[in-house]
Parts: sequence; C-alpha cells; structure tokens
Amino acid sequence: MAPLLALQEDLKELRETFRSGATRTVAWRKAQLRSLVKLLREQEDQIFAVLHEDLGKHRVEAYRDEVGIVLKSLTYSLKHLEKWVAPKKVQLPLVFFPAMGEVVPEPLGLVLIFSSWNYPIGLSLEPLIGAISAGCTAVIKPSEHAPATSSFLAKAISRYMDTKAIKVIEGGVSVSEHLLQEKWDKIFFTGSAQVGRVIMSAAAKHLTPVTLELGGKCPTVLDSRLSSSDREMAVKRISSGKWGCCNSQACLAVDYLLVEEKLASTLIDLLKKSIKRLFGEKIVETRASGKIVNKHHFKRLCRLLEDPGVSKSIVHGGSVDEDKLFIEPTILLDPPLASELMTEEIFGPLLPIITLKNIEESIEFIHSKPKPLAIYVFTKDEMLKRRVLSETSSGSVIFNDVLIHYVSAELPFGGVGKSGIGSYHGKFSFDTFSHEKAVLRRYFFLEPQARYPPWNDYKLKFIRLLYRFDYFGLLLLWMGLKR
Ligand code: NAD
Repeated sequence: MAPLLALQEDLKELRETFRSGATRTVAWRKAQLRSLVKLLREQEDQIFAVLHEDLGKHRVEAYRDEVGIVLKSLTYSLKHLEKWVAPKKVQLPLVFFPAMGEVVPEPLGLVLIFSSWNYPIGLSLEPLIGAISAGCTAVIKPSEHAPATSSFLAKAISRYMDTKAIKVIEGGVSVSEHLLQEKWDKIFFTGSAQVGRVIMSAAAKHLTPVTLELGGKCPTVLDSRLSSSDREMAVKRISSGKWGCCNSQACLAVDYLLVEEKLASTLIDLLKKSIKRLFGEKIVETRASGKIVNKHHFKRLCRLLEDPGVSKSIVHGGSVDEDKLFIEPTILLDPPLASELMTEEIFGPLLPIITLKNIEESIEFIHSKPKPLAIYVFTKDEMLKRRVLSETSSGSVIFNDVLIHYVSAELPFGGVGKSGIGSYHGKFSFDTFSHEKAVLRRYFFLEPQARYPPWNDYKLKFIRLLYRFDYFGLLLLWMGLKR
C-alpha cells in the first residue's frame, strides 16, 4: 500500500478505536500499562543494544536515564490511575442551590507524540504512559536520528501493545510533515525550539492543543562561599550533569557555569580532575566520553569552537576527531558573550565558565536571557536561593544538584517561555492528555425568581446576597435566621 494511504488507514483505525470507547475503561488503560512494563522487562537487553548502537550509551546510563525511569513511572501510574480517573466533587456557589458539581477528566482523543533522539526510549514512552493513562489513542513518531531505537520501538509496540490504539510511525521530516497535515486532538512534541515553531503553526490550523518540551541553555551557579568539601561535591555533580549524560546532548545538561572571578582557577582544576575521574587519563585515545550523534551536530559543535574569540578561551580540551565523531570534554573561560556558543543551546561537551565580580550578578545574567528549562544553583545562602526563585523564571530550579528532578513523578517536568509549553510526568502527564470537563447537575425544585426579569431592586439585593455565600454560607445563614 502507498505510504500515504497506509497512514490514512492507520489514522482511521485509531479514530474508530477511540470512538468505540474501548480506551476509556480503566481495565484497558491498566492492561496497556502492564504490557509496557512487560515490554521493558523482556526487551531490556535489546533496548540496551539499540541505545548503544545509536548513541554509544552504556547500559548503566541507559537504565538510569531511560528504562528505569519509565518503569518507575509505569508503577506510579498503575498505582494512582483509579484516583486520577475518578470525578472530583466541587463546592458550588449558593446561586446554584440545589446542585452538584464535578470535574470529570475526559481523554482528549487521538494524540501525536514526537520524540527526540537523545533519550529515544524515555522521551517516546514517558508521554505514551500519560496518553494511555488518560485513555487516548496515540501515534509515536520517534526521531530518525536514532534509527535502531526507532525500528525497535515500531516492532516492540506492535508486538506488546493494542495496535488498534497505539502505533509507531517511523520516518524523517517528510513523514512528520504528512503527520502534521492531519487533525489531531493533541500534539506532544519533544525537540528543538526551531521545529517547535513548525509544530505550533501546523497545530494552529486545527486549533490543536500542544505540549512543547524544548531545550535551551541551562545555567549553573556555583557560590564561592561553599566549603572546599562542598565545592568538590558540587563539581562532581556539575561534571556528571555536563559530561555524564548522553555526552551532554541533553536538554537538561549544564550549559554554562557562572562563578566569581576568584574561584575560576580552582574550579578549572577541579573540573579537569573530574574529567579524569569520569573518563580516565587518556580520553583523547580512548574516546571514553562517547560520540556526538551525527556529522551535522559534530560540525555544528566544531563551528562553535572555530569562532576566534571562543577558541582563544579554551583552557582545557578542544580535540576533535570527525571519523569517530569525538569531541573532547572542553572547558572555556569567559568566551565572548555574543558568540554562538553563548547565545545558542550548546548540546555537546563544551563547558563555558563565565566569571562575575559578585555571585549576586548571576541573577541579572540569567534574567537577561531566554527562560531556561532548568537553573542549577550550588549555594548554602538562603537569601541567594530566595532571590533566584523570585527574580528569575525557568521550567525548574534545583539547589545543590543537577538533572535529578527529571526522575520524580511528583514534580512537573517542562519549560516556560522559550524552553517549552506545558509539562508532564506522573499526574501531570495524565492532565496533559485530558480535558477537565465541568459537570453541573441541577434538580427541578427551588427556583429563585430573582434570576429572571422583570428586574427590580429587591432582585438585585437578593442576587448580591446569593453571590456572597456558598452552601456552607447558606448553612450559617440558616442557623443565624433560626436564632
Ligand atoms: P528536532 O527538533 O530536530 O527533532 C525532534 C522531532 O521533530 C523528531 O522526531 C524529528 O523527526 C521531528 N522533526 C524534525 N524536523 C521537523 C520538521 N521540519 N517538521 C516536523 N517535524 C520535524 O530536535 P532533536 O535534534 O531531536 O533534539 C534536540 C533538541 O530537543 C534540543 O533543543 C533539546 O534541548 C531538545 N530536547 C528537549 C527535551 C525536553 O524534554 N525538554 C528532551 C530532549 C531534547
């Protein structure tokens, strides 16, 4: 069958499945979540293999950042699903008396999930958990830049999941463009801000709601007032948030560091030691830090380094090898702020250090840039923490660590401004794929005439009174009148 015709057939089947109501039952949702658990458990070795093939990820990293987190989310959703699905009773104003109000979560319908290549399992399945929990049917379009994982997902999903309700459609930009011409009930996109704009304008045609999980430059502030042991621990965490997660090709990776001038040389020494601890003495020969995903991104990163102002600022590293797509963990001190390195998301193992006279200046520095996905601040100073929270805006703020908030199902994960729209994880994923339907039930007795014309002053007084009280107020009023 011609690909376009096949796509139409697939979408027709998915829409009919949703229309049939099959995906709305809690039993179906739970069965699908359990199948996903089974898939991850039975196919774990295969997942490790494809993640290694596409990205050179070690199995520990693959489990820590993808398989383990998705399994954790599945357990969490299975545990809470019934509570999430249940209508929530609400208190109504007296004006409606007697009436009952409820908020009923309703699945949005057929949803499209675009994922990116850096965490191709996690970023495909984590939103799928939300879509299934909410009772939606779904199409996943994995990134073509992680081809082994994309093909694995297509095969595994069709083997383990209800294929009338969940499908994987593989392909590159042209397939994405075809998908975007269709009418969806929600588009959930993980990727760059540039493609995010394409998604949003396509969605606007059908007024389709979107969640955009984008990237940006995550700043990290290191306070020089920390003791030397705290500082060492901070640098260890910063290094893992820079070089220990998909070779820094991560939306939440530490993008640049803000420190006081007096700390710069100590910090550079600590970072160099940290790189050796992570990857050994001979990283240039062993290439132990992992590869850049493809030539396009390799060349983009080399271009950042070729800027004369930037290359002058390299204080450690800087070797590259195009055949192996290798870029050495590189530290740069005070590169020009107008360079592309400092204006665009780096998404690679280059770490600029920007020095400030006073750590308080970091707040204005961050505030003057687009709102990041995360801000990391290493400090014990409560005033500085308070100022960061109240004077900057970001998807999240983490004090004294990096990235770990991604693991929590209780915290919403998402950006703000240029780093994204909407959030997910845990209940937030369920909400992302649900509509909160307002339901109000009235009865056929008690009918205050004040709501109807002809108007008079008494009716105005009466309505004023009704608007001031809820049911509880009515009870008080009644008790007052009885006395
Ligand atoms: P990308 O925007 O190039 O691609 C993302 C998805 O969009 C892929 O599935 C791709 O096939 C599709 N796509 C690409 N071009 C398209 C087009 N013209 N029309 C329609 N669809 C198109 O992003 P990427 O390179 O996969 O990922 C890197 C970016 O994603 C970085 O900016 C990173 O910060 C961000 N990211 C964000 C998160 C998050 O959770 N917030 C996670 C990972 C990556």
